[in-house]
This record gives sequence, C-alpha cells and structure tokens, in this order.
Amino acid sequence: MNILVLNSGSSSIKYQLLEMPSTTLLAAGQVERIGEVESRLTHRRRNAEDKMEVHVHMAHIRNHRAGLVAITELLDDTMQLTAIGHRVVHAGEAFSAPIRIDAQVIEILRGVSELAPLHNPANLAGIEVCLELFQDIQQVAVFDTAFHQGMPAHAYRYALPNSLYSKHGVRRYGFHGTSHSYVARQAALHLQKPLETLNLISLHLGNGASAAAIHGGRCIDTSMGMTPMEGLMMGTRCGDIDPAVAFYLQRVTGQSSADIESLYNHNSGLKGICGENDMREVLRMADADDNAAQLAIDIYCYRIKKYIGAYLAALGRIDGIIFTAGIGENAPRVRQLSCHGLEALGIVIDETRNVRAQGDVCEIQSSNANIKLLVVRTNEELEIARQTVECIEC
Ligand code: ADP
Repeated sequence: MNILVLNSGSSSIKYQLLEMPSTTLLAAGQVERIGEVESRLTHRRRNAEDKMEVHVHMAHIRNHRAGLVAITELLDDTMQLTAIGHRVVHAGEAFSAPIRIDAQVIEILRGVSELAPLHNPANLAGIEVCLELFQDIQQVAVFDTAFHQGMPAHAYRYALPNSLYSKHGVRRYGFHGTSHSYVARQAALHLQKPLETLNLISLHLGNGASAAAIHGGRCIDTSMGMTPMEGLMMGTRCGDIDPAVAFYLQRVTGQSSADIESLYNHNSGLKGICGENDMREVLRMADADDNAAQLAIDIYCYRIKKYIGAYLAALGRIDGIIFTAGIGENAPRVRQLSCHGLEALGIVIDETRNVRAQGDVCEIQSSNANIKLLVVRTNEELEIARQTVECIEC
C-alpha cells in the first residue's frame, strides 16, 4: 500500500510517498515559499532504473490548495494512494495516538490551535484541502505530542495554580514524539531486546532539540514543555530559562511580551551566543578559535549532560542513550562533550567509534561500558507512515 506523508507548514508543504510495509520511498519533495511571487516545488521520484530523479518547478503557488494540487499532479497513476498521514504538531490532551480524521477531529484540533499558533493552523490548512481533494482516501493525523501523553502528572505539571491547568491547559506536552518513538524502536531492534524491557534516553538534536526519558517504550519525561521553547539549548531557542528574565527585560528595556517571545524563539540559543545557528558553522568557528562559538558549544553540551543526569535519576537505570537528528547524527564533538565526565555513571564513549559512526544505527560506547551509546538515524516520515498504517488497519 502507498502512504502519502504530509507536513504542511505555514509557507511550505513537505511530502513523501512511501510503499508500505516495504518502506520504499517512491517520491518525495517540498513546496516552498507558498504565497510568494515565485514558489518552488522540488519533486523527487523513483524512476524505472530505481534511481531518484529530481525535478524543480518554479511557479506562483498562491496557497496550500494550489500546492497540494501541484503535488498530486506529479504523483502519477502508478502511485495510487491508500491513505494520507498528516503530521500535526499539537494535540493538547485530546489524542494520545494517531486518529482517523473527520469533522469532529478537525473541530478538536482547531480548539487546541492556541497552544501551537505557528504550527497547528498550517497543519489544519493542509488537512482541510486534502479532505476536499482526496475524498475517498483515508486520512490520519499523527501528533508530535502523542508519544508524551503517557507522562505522569509529576512530570507534566508545572508548579502553578491548578486552575491554570484545568482552565487553560497550562502543562508540559513535549514534542518530537514521532522521532523519539522511532529511534527508540530502532534501538531495540538493533539491541535485539524487546523495547518493553529497555530504559533509554533519547536526544533529538536538530534545529529544535529535545530529550526524552523512555521507560519500557513509554515516555516518562521530556524536555520540551507547553511549547517547544523549554528544555535543551537549540539553534535559535533559549531552552530552560528563569521566567523572571522576561519581566526584568520588560522593565529595563521596555520590550513587549511579543518582542521577548521572538527573542527567545528566534534570536537565542546558538545564534544568541555566537551569531550562528547552524551547528556546522558553529563548530567551524570554534575551530578557528572563536571564543563565542566555543562558549555556545560548551553551553549546548553542558545542558545535554545535565538532562542525561536528570533522566538517569528519573529512570533509575538506563540501557542506552540515543543521539539523533542533524546534530546528534553528525556531530561527534557534540556527542563526545555531552558524555564527557560521565564515565563514573557507566557512560563511556569510544573516540574512534564516535568519529567513524555511520549507518542507520551505530554503537559508539567503549567496550568496557555497560551503557550503550547509539547514533540512530531518525525518519519521522517513515514513522508517520507506519503509524498511519496501524491506524487504518485497526
Ligand atoms: P530540523 O530540526 O530542521 O529537522 P535537522 O535534524 O536537519 O533539523 O538538524 C539541523 C542541524 O543539524 C543544524 O544545526 C545543522 O548544522 C546540523 N548538522 C547537519 N549536518 C551536520 C554535520 N555534519 N555536523 C554538525 N552539524 C550538522
């Protein structure tokens, strides 16, 4: 069966067409700059020689509907769809698993949009157009927050008055759930142990970054909170911060809460410390003796180390730590610095293995270490396709 995975953002639509259960990628691409004078559609499709051909189309794509029509025109008849899996960022407390989309589901998601004002409306725009264009095809919503819905109250509640939780949903939700869930399963397959028997710490280190404490395949804590701003330091987001910094800045600089929200989201993290949010560039600058870049790396890795310690305490014991996403998969120095000094806890990295790590799953701990250190390539689209299949089959 062919599953179309869609990720509709505010000005872009990313897609993959996967044959399941073989997981063969049949086509993939993205529409960028929707609504601008010149939009760009990059489409890759598997050809008769089993190679991926790339086509780039420039056109004015005025909205999500036009973008999705353009995508469907490129998916030829041999690529008949069985179902569509939509990535949806925030489900609030409404859904802890993927769900078939109907009018009621859309209404519920609209109700939680205030929790993710930048993401959910764009996700919903994609869903509504697809319901109209593909009336006979089953459509499933797969949520970034779902994996974390099993967290216990002591992990997801803030120490704020109860009414803020009950009336306004102020609590920790967590994100990157499809990635954490995918890499945990990959790790279990690699270790040839049932996921239910493993305690894992998963570190998703991309532009956004989050850690998850996974007990027997279930998330018991995660670093992102009510929004994706909490937790680890990120490319442009500050991560954990004293809430009083915002009040102080308002008082002494006269900035509005919107200004400070934008500062925390777009001009903090690696970028705030050294002016660059791309880790490749930050590492290059540090190599050239740029002190600010070195400080950015030091803060970044120190905070990962603190979360490893915290989640080791939360889980009691761990079998493995997973590094994933752009930085986790590709930056040996970040992995090394994040584990440095944790040898007494059984976390010992092997430098040669660390530098040489490649492939879908790779072990990088030293031979005498009892905690596995795994570099696992994430694949959120594949996880969405897999969860979509499970949902339509049950
Ligand atoms: P997103 O959250 O947008 O999916 P990715 O998972 O693609 O992000 O991760 C993007 C981050 O990965 C960027 O900071 C980028 O610099 C970093 N990255 C990618 N390749 C490398 C590399 N070879 N070395 C260090 N960092 C890398």
